[in-house]
Order: sequence, then structure tokens, then C-alpha cells
Amino acid sequence: MKILVVNAGSSSLKYQLFDMETASVLARGNCERIGIDGTLTYKRPCKEDIKKDLSIKDHRAAIGLVLSCLTDKDEGVISDASEIDAVGHRFAHGGERLSESAVLGEGEIEYLESIVEINPLHGPPALAGLAACKEAMPSVMHVGVFDTSYYSTVEKKAYIYPIPYEYYEKYKIRKYGFHGTSHRYVSRRAAEMLGRDTGELKIITCHLGNGSSITATKYGSAVDTSMGFTPQDGVPMGTRCGAVDPSVVTYLMKKEGLTPAEADKILTSKSGLLGISGVSSDCRDIRAAKEKGDGRSALALEILAHGIKKIIGSYIAEMNGADAIVFTAGIGENDGEMRESVCSDMDFLGIKINTDVNRNCPRGEDVDISAEGSPVKTLVIPTNEEYMIALDTQNLVIKNSERK
Ligand code: ADP
Repeated sequence: MKILVVNAGSSSLKYQLFDMETASVLARGNCERIGIDGTLTYKRPCKEDIKKDLSIKDHRAAIGLVLSCLTDKDEGVISDASEIDAVGHRFAHGGERLSESAVLGEGEIEYLESIVEINPLHGPPALAGLAACKEAMPSVMHVGVFDTSYYSTVEKKAYIYPIPYEYYEKYKIRKYGFHGTSHRYVSRRAAEMLGRDTGELKIITCHLGNGSSITATKYGSAVDTSMGFTPQDGVPMGTRCGAVDPSVVTYLMKKEGLTPAEADKILTSKSGLLGISGVSSDCRDIRAAKEKGDGRSALALEILAHGIKKIIGSYIAEMNGADAIVFTAGIGENDGEMRESVCSDMDFLGIKINTDVNRNCPRGEDVDISAEGSPVKTLVIPTNEEYMIALDTQNLVIKNSERK
């Protein structure tokens, strides 16, 4: 079975074509700067990458280009678009109703449109991408995989905010959680690495990228996560502040005479690692600046490690223990110093890493960095959200064909 996975952003459309029989990627790439000018990248294993600058008017044009690359007589990997059995679409938000991956029919699309208000950044481009794909491939099944649905098992005590309950009823203001597909993938992979079933494990997964979140998964179900109503809560991120005293926001608005949109911009685009360091949102630049003696860069990294550590501790309390801590995404997979800072002085909680293994961790591989005899295992696992989306899509295709 061949599954196309699509992740549409406001000016980009990332894609991967999977051959599910061999669990391999046939081709992948990105259409960027959609609606501005346009760049298309097309990559295949063992072949030269193709990059073209060309006009990409909208998402419809982007998917048209992707299909023509995939089916190109010389450079293509399939001979016809009809070889694609289904399309899996990444959606950041599935609201309260879409609590698992679903075939996207009229009802589901209407619901996704109705929750755009609580998902203003990701919702519209994802829906535009879906509409374009449906138009280009009308006869195949289109499946939505929602970052939020992994958190459908979180209990009310963990997702209701202590503000007047009517705001939950009126506006659905609650914790939703994000990055669920990544947390689901790496927690399953962790169980495989430990040779055990997720149903018997307590796992804390740290997805640390430009956006970061930490999730507690107990016996196979998510019980808590650090992101909230929006992907803004939790640990400091590249440019997002993470958790701050809510009164800081209203105080700042009064002092600086900010509109809600201006305050949002400061908290989402000018805060986090960038805001503290004043150097960059990119962890690599901040590390380089720290090496040169920049104090605020050193502070930014310390604040991040401190924030991650506190959340891990709270989840160990929440689950009454942990079997594994997992690090994933750009920082989690590549920044050994960050992992070391987070895991230092955690032996009281049973977390001890082997610093040599941690420092020499090979890129792109699953590695157990725990010290020998450490009661809690610490693992580095490269995330693979696209494969998880492809798997969910395949499962729904199989389920549907069995029903027929
Ligand atoms: P996104 O959330 O956009 O998918 P990524 O998962 O790619 O982001 O993570 C981006 C972050 O990972 C950046 O802060 C980047 O600096 C960091 N990163 C990538 N490689 C390294 C590295 N070798 N060392 C430290 N940080 C790294």
C-alpha cells in the first residue's frame, strides 16, 4: 500500500510518500513560500535532490506540483497518481470531538471548520491543503491525524483550568495538548526498545524542538502534557514563552499599552530562548554564544533545562514513578549538553545517565543513554510523526475495506 502524508502550513506543504509493505519513504519534500513566490524540493533515497524555484500560487498548485514530481517519467517514483492508496493529513487540532484519527468526510470537515477559532494558525492552511488534495485525488480515502487526539485520555482534573467554569462551556477553553503524534510514536518505540508493552510502562517523553512539549504516558494512555489550550504553555521554546504568571501578561499590556494581538506577538514570536538570550531562537546559535561567554545565552539554556527538569519531576509524582524518560526532536535528539543538564542531580528519582554514551550519541539512531543499573531508563529516539500518520491512515483503509 502506498500512502501520501501531507502536512500543510500557511505557506508550505510538506509531503512524504510511503511504501507501507517495506515501511520505506519513496520520496519526500516540501513546497515552500506558497503564495509568495515558491520553492519545491523533491528527495528520493540514493538519488540527487531536486530543488526548483517556481511560482506556487496556492495549495492547489502545490499539490499539483507534488503529484507531477511523483509521477514524472524520468524522476518519478510511481507511474500514476492512482497508485496512491490514501492520503494522511496532519492536523494540529482535532478539538474535543475528533479524539482519534478519522476518515475526513463532510461532517469531520465541517467540525474542523467550526474549531478554526481555537486553532487560527494551523487550521486554515491544513483545511486548504486538504481541499486541494481532495480535488486532485477525489477517489482515495483522506484521513486526518490530529496532534490533540493523543490527549483524549487525559482526565478532567488535568485539563480544566481553574478559571470560571463557564468559559470552558462557552468557549471550550481547556488544555488540549499538542505534538501528540510524536509523543505517541516515541513512547511506543521506547516500549519496543525496552522489550515491554506500553500497557505496563510509565513513560515521560520530552519533544524539544522549536516548539517543545513534555507528555506523561501511563500504561499506554496520556495522562498529562505541558502544552495547553494553545501550543504556548509549558517550557520556554524558540520564540514562545511557555508558562508564565498570567498576570504578567495583563500587567505588560497595561504598561506598554498593548492590544491583544500585540501581546500575543510578544509572547509567541519574541519570547522564549530568543527573548531571554537576545541572540537567536536556535539552540545551536545560543550554545555558540554561550561558549563565547554570553551570559544571557547561558541563562536561556539554564532556564530551559530547569523548566524541563521540573516538569519531569511533576510527572513522576503524577504517575507515582517512571520507567523511561525519552528525548526527541531537534534539541532532544541532538543536544547532549541539554540532556545532561536536565538529567543531572536526578538520582534521587532513579534517573542516571551514562555521560560518555550521551555525549557520543550517534545522530538519527535510537540510543539508551542510561547508566548501568539506573532504575529509570533514559532514551534518545528520533521522532517520526509522518510514519505514525501513514500507519494510522493504513489502518483506517484496512478497517474500511473489511467493513465493505
Ligand atoms: P520543529 O519544532 O520546527 O520541528 P526541530 O525539531 O527541527 O524543530 O528542532 C529545532 C531545534 O533543534 C532548534 O532549536 C535547533 O537549534 C535544535 N537543534 C538541531 N540540531 C541541533 C544540534 N546539533 N545541537 C543543538 N540543537 C540542535
